[in-house]
Amino acid sequence: MKHIRNFSIIAHIDHGKSTLSDRLIQETGIVSDRDFQDQILDTMDIERERGITIKSQTVSLPYTAKDGKEYVLNLIDTPGHVDFTYEVSRALASCEGALLIVDASQGVEAQTLANLYLALEHDLEIIPIINKIDLPSAEIDWVKGQIEEDLGLDPEASILTSAKNGIGIADVLEGAVELLPAPEGDPAAPLKALIFDSHYDPYRGTVVHFRVIDGKMKAGDTIKFMSNDASYKVEEVGVFQIVRVPRKELSAGEVGYLIAGIKTVSDTRCGDTITHVKGGCEEAVAGFKDPTPVVFSSIYPVASDDYEELTTAMEKLQLNDASLIYEKDSSAALGFGFRCGFLGLLHLEVVQERLEREYGLSLILTAPSVQYEVEFNTGEVEIIDNPALYPDPTTISRTSEPFIKAAIIVPERYMGAVMKLCLDRRGISVNYQYLTNSRMEMIFELPLAEVVYDFYDKLKSITQGYGSFDYELIGYKETDLVKLDFLINGEKVDALAQLVHKDRAVSRGRVACEKLKEEIPRQMFKVAIQGAIGAKIVSRETISAFRKDVTAKCYGGDISRKRKLLEKQKKGKKRMKMVGQVEIPQSAFLAVLKSD
Ligand code: GDP
Ligand code: MG
Repeated sequence: MKHIRNFSIIAHIDHGKSTLSDRLIQETGIVSDRDFQDQILDTMDIERERGITIKSQTVSLPYTAKDGKEYVLNLIDTPGHVDFTYEVSRALASCEGALLIVDASQGVEAQTLANLYLALEHDLEIIPIINKIDLPSAEIDWVKGQIEEDLGLDPEASILTSAKNGIGIADVLEGAVELLPAPEGDPAAPLKALIFDSHYDPYRGTVVHFRVIDGKMKAGDTIKFMSNDASYKVEEVGVFQIVRVPRKELSAGEVGYLIAGIKTVSDTRCGDTITHVKGGCEEAVAGFKDPTPVVFSSIYPVASDDYEELTTAMEKLQLNDASLIYEKDSSAALGFGFRCGFLGLLHLEVVQERLEREYGLSLILTAPSVQYEVEFNTGEVEIIDNPALYPDPTTISRTSEPFIKAAIIVPERYMGAVMKLCLDRRGISVNYQYLTNSRMEMIFELPLAEVVYDFYDKLKSITQGYGSFDYELIGYKETDLVKLDFLINGEKVDALAQLVHKDRAVSRGRVACEKLKEEIPRQMFKVAIQGAIGAKIVSRETISAFRKDVTAKCYGGDISRKRKLLEKQKKGKKRMKMVGQVEIPQSAFLAVLKSD
């Protein structure tokens, strides 16, 4: 155990976590240069394309230190997005230390701080790393100042790196050995192991990622998960070295995986404790929580015939994503589909992209909604996450909506713009403080519903990319909601309905009608778009009918151009849904939520 170091790399997005991980893996030589590809830990296409980590990955790095001894450095990668804070916290609970990366030209940002706080909550030893020192805009002294003042860490202990150019990588490995504590724990005590992740292998079932706190686990053991008492016989234990490498046993302080014929990842829960059925430990590791979805949306196939395929795809996807929850749903306009709960909008987009890409489906997602708490005149309370199911307002005595506490860090010059954005979104300014002379942290309480859609994009654009944002849910507050319906040629389209604060219902209705007008293509007849609250029409737009056949001008012309045009139309069509007589494109369902 003396020769093990368990640590995470934490950073604000884009500060170089994946690149540094790559360099550490290369330096320790567990992957041959020939097999190496950049961002080796980001295994999903979406992760590589977007440059974010969604699933955490672990890797055991063998390392011979300057003292001549063999060490095992377990690098536990954590997801890098606010949607996945709980997974991050479980990964950190499996570590003794963390490397905190700060970009030498960007300095400390919102998630640098948020991640540091999380790491400190878990009593981790922290090594500051100043990365991207190769950049001409690197300001090492300025960053050191921030490390001291904003983070309260010793700037002289920081390691300077260029992950891109491979500078300082050996110092990071040596620093991990020297500065981070070895794990403690009793190999002779009853087994206690913490699950921090799991993934699905089509041949072996669920692969559970865990850290042994006390005791030992080996193949053949009968284990159980303490949250639900489910027991399994262990088939294999081992460590991750990009590929799985089986081991005879895993003992206190070690990090690795187990395979035990577990059919779906939803049978294992991040944060749960594993122990032996016989002679197991008494107490589970503290901090276990069930995943809590915050954003809800319904998924429908564009072609109703694809419902069976969607069902299969959802089942398969859930094997690999325990935080995805769903149930059957149906809509008068869209037919059969699924109501789904997501950890956040990024999670929603990832699910949509995977369903479309990996399963070749064409889908419609309804406008995302949060969960409202509705109290009826009878005193009964119900949770509503689907605007289509919002009850008759005369039966309701009180409605509450979820609020978040948002921490936004921006250069001072954007303070006014951020203030305006947050107040426009019904935010309450709670506090602000200067982190340095020119950077400030602003704290707001905001309705979750106002941030789920395009808040982050807006923040980025008004601050020219400098603003950073982190949030946590703080609970429910009373609100005044109305249901905004949309009618297309007089027919109410339930999947377009949204719940809106009363004060902004009329303006939302107007903007949404304008958006729908932009999104819905002309048809052979006139199309009326109306926004309504109850029986009252609050906004209206009209799409005039087609005049010409689009292909008419191609007749007699270039045949390949004509074919291209038809193909383009066909492709466009795949994402159109017939609602009554009118074809509505996929994009229209999300467009109604856009604020301007
Ligand atoms: P992550 O979001 O923290 O995982 O960041 P990445 O490792 O994906 O890096 C974000 C971007 O910064 C990528 O374009 C990297 O190539 C780049 N980058 C990472 N480290 C360095 C560095 O040391 N120097 C320079 N110039 N760029 C770097
Ligand atoms: Mg990354």
